[in-house]
Amino acid sequence: MAIVEPVTSTNGHRRLRLESPTTRRALGEITVHTAAEVRERIAAARRAQPQFEALGFEKRAQIMRRALSILLSQQERFIDVIVGETGRSRMETLLMELFPACDSLAYYAKHAERLLRDESPSLHLLKTKKLVISYRPLGVIGIITPWNGPFVLSLNPTVQALMAGNAVVLKPSEVTPFSGKLVGELFAEAGLPPDVLCVLEGDGETGAALVEGGVDKISFTGSVATGRKVGEACGRQLIPCTLELGGKNPTIVCADSDVPRAAKGCVSGAFLNAGQFCCATARIYVVDSVADAFIGHVVEYVRSLKQAREGEFDLGPAIWPRQLEIIERHVNDAVTRGARVLTGGARNREVGELFFQPTVLTDVTDDMLVMREETFGPVVSIVRVRDEAEALRRANQSAYGLAATVWTSDHAKALRLSKALETGHVCMNDCSVTYGIHEAPFGGRKQSGLGQVHGPGGLKGYCYAQSIVLERTRLGQEDAFYPFTDQKASTMRKVMQWVFGSRLGRLFT
Ligand code: NAD
Repeated sequence: MAIVEPVTSTNGHRRLRLESPTTRRALGEITVHTAAEVRERIAAARRAQPQFEALGFEKRAQIMRRALSILLSQQERFIDVIVGETGRSRMETLLMELFPACDSLAYYAKHAERLLRDESPSLHLLKTKKLVISYRPLGVIGIITPWNGPFVLSLNPTVQALMAGNAVVLKPSEVTPFSGKLVGELFAEAGLPPDVLCVLEGDGETGAALVEGGVDKISFTGSVATGRKVGEACGRQLIPCTLELGGKNPTIVCADSDVPRAAKGCVSGAFLNAGQFCCATARIYVVDSVADAFIGHVVEYVRSLKQAREGEFDLGPAIWPRQLEIIERHVNDAVTRGARVLTGGARNREVGELFFQPTVLTDVTDDMLVMREETFGPVVSIVRVRDEAEALRRANQSAYGLAATVWTSDHAKALRLSKALETGHVCMNDCSVTYGIHEAPFGGRKQSGLGQVHGPGGLKGYCYAQSIVLERTRLGQEDAFYPFTDQKASTMRKVMQWVFGSRLGRLFT
């Protein structure tokens, strides 16, 4: 999208005007939902939820499959809206929005029932009981999302929350509200019952109202600063939340890597979505013996990238002036402190006001903003290191811990380095692709977040695990019931001694 500018305030409503980041032409307006309206939507969702839950998995999966078929058959309509708001290329929109959205709908339609099936693990000690763990929907889930994956990051948690039997109130970013609204339109067309999903319009005020509005969980994706506020508010209310936050993601390029391919992969990893990607490669640590060759390839690839307003191109604009200012500040800070610009380094005004040239920096130091804070733009820094041990140490010197990549031809080394990296996920010889793998837990360490989505626990995160203890058989003597007597205490001691103090008894523990 787009640029947000408050225009008028009528009847207690603020309106935000939106512009294309590519052309800066008007795209439309949104009317910010007030806190009272947010509470009404949550109440309506709560009323609609029990009947929706009662539909069962198969009927909910049918809705997902209808949504999938609408998305497939009308993909150009969806791409038009996302491209209009973000300025991304159509190919990138297909790759990073439509394809993973289709996969999310298909995967959870097929697997949610299995993943949320009642479990009955055998009990190690209390053989007279049967445990049933039942995954019950939490109720109403509040989902708050950012502008950098405006459709898929709104759709994916919504699919999971709905498949688990919840109702959803979604607050997409005010910077890309129309891509967020597509999620509501898609499910309405697919036959989702009224009020089960509500898509709000608004900015941080609306987001804060959603967090405080009485939902049962918040699924938040966005910046560390906002995530901290959301986490604090959820903690105060004792409601669960997942926080998917920013990163300053490291890459280690080993001497035994396929250097030209590593360079190509790092360039894609750094400049996808013009670097406005939470898992974007930002800090490259390359082992000295291959550094010259690697840097040569990186610079060559980056110089071949095409930045344009339409047609076939690789990089679009920064989303809004605020983002461009951060990018410029980080690059200027680095250059002032002695970094060398190998290519790029400035705005690309020939293409448009919000375009920044894909930029490669070297001779960077750890105190520079570009190494410490999330730039969220088309800027990557390359650091030469003596060996992998130095790469590892410096990669871990970060307040963030979201994603990392490792380039080597040695699988055992990739695994060893990955386990030593303090990030939620690591990919070998590829860009960070983990978010696209539903079986893989996804989440950040350190300041990059709290909790995980996807993986075995992701879908279950939209539920509470209810433990139901059933009776299998009954012992003649029930020592845990009153009256408490000396004789029962004596029996208890004997049982304790046998279970915990004998070799045979320990088989039960
Ligand atoms: P942001 O934190 O500014 O906004 C995110 C959302 O929070 C928006 O919808 C916004 O309106 C809302 N919001 C703002 N203030 C709020 C408040 N006080 N209470 C509740 N909601 C509030 O983030 P952004 O600039 O839209 O997104 C970019 C950030 O998101 C980057 O840091 C990026 O790394 C991160 N991100 C993380 C992931 C991940 O999975 N880890 C994925 C994508 C983006």
